[in-house]
Amino acid sequence: MNDSLPPGLYIVATPIGNLGDITIRAAEVLRNAELVAAEDTRVTAKLLQHLGIRVPMMSYHDHNADRVRPDLLEKAGRMPVALVTDAGTPLISDPGYKLVRAAHEAGMRVTTLPGPCAAVAAMTVAGLPTDRFLFAGFLPPKTAGRTRVLEELKSIRATLIFYETGPRLADCLADIHAVLGNREVAIARELTKLHEEVRRGPAADLAEALADSTPPKGEIVLVVGPPVEETFSPEAIEDRLKAALETMTVKEAAKLVAAETGGNRQELYRLALSLTGRA
Ligand code: SAM
Repeated sequence: MNDSLPPGLYIVATPIGNLGDITIRAAEVLRNAELVAAEDTRVTAKLLQHLGIRVPMMSYHDHNADRVRPDLLEKAGRMPVALVTDAGTPLISDPGYKLVRAAHEAGMRVTTLPGPCAAVAAMTVAGLPTDRFLFAGFLPPKTAGRTRVLEELKSIRATLIFYETGPRLADCLADIHAVLGNREVAIARELTKLHEEVRRGPAADLAEALADSTPPKGEIVLVVGPPVEETFSPEAIEDRLKAALETMTVKEAAKLVAAETGGNRQELYRLALSLTGRA
């Protein structure tokens, strides 16, 4: 029994390329865990070796998760068990969520060791709005499936984040352009590694550039800016309101033009009253 770390499930984020990004706390927990559940024990063995840590490991991945989960939970009930994946934060396009849910249901301590995550890292270098974002993981590999998912996401007023592979990138950008329009895009590649690169530009330009070149190597996050808001001049708003007032009441016209332009409904109502000489 380890007396410095209580029993439970410890979700440990690991580097996405640069081993120096392991946190001090993550290293301490890996050192003091009695078992490390790893997506690929060979990958995690390299990290543990780098940190000079020797600890028993077992594998926990998409193909054995249902079978090994009960055993893992039983162990986490009486010893500290760390969950890691090959890179980044477990559960984020990686295994772990069913394990965390089951651990909560069993009344266990579940704690997190936050750290690197490619989606968040990409957001920090993309130069796109970060106030609202939606992480959508990997898009389907073929155009038909990809188009269906992009259609679902089209009206969301937020920056979108996808994980993608080099060979699919050009087709994916072409579909993004076709479905979402010519939005601003950032391609964040090989983050924290030697060949880290961020390419930015309108979807159409990037799609065209990539269609004519060999697929980029390495790991990629695609960050797609929110829908471009159309801006309306005061004259354009007044023209729309006048047109609407030809067939609608003041209230209806204000409501319609507010929806069309994103304007304030009460202000448009007052403007509509003045346009009809009733203000
Ligand atoms: N759980 C991980 C995380 O927190 O980022 C993600 C796991 S997912 C299976 C792997 C994908 O993350 C890669 O295919 C790539 O799209 C993205 N990724 C991981 N490391 C990256 C890096 N260093 N640079 C860019 N993208 C990366």
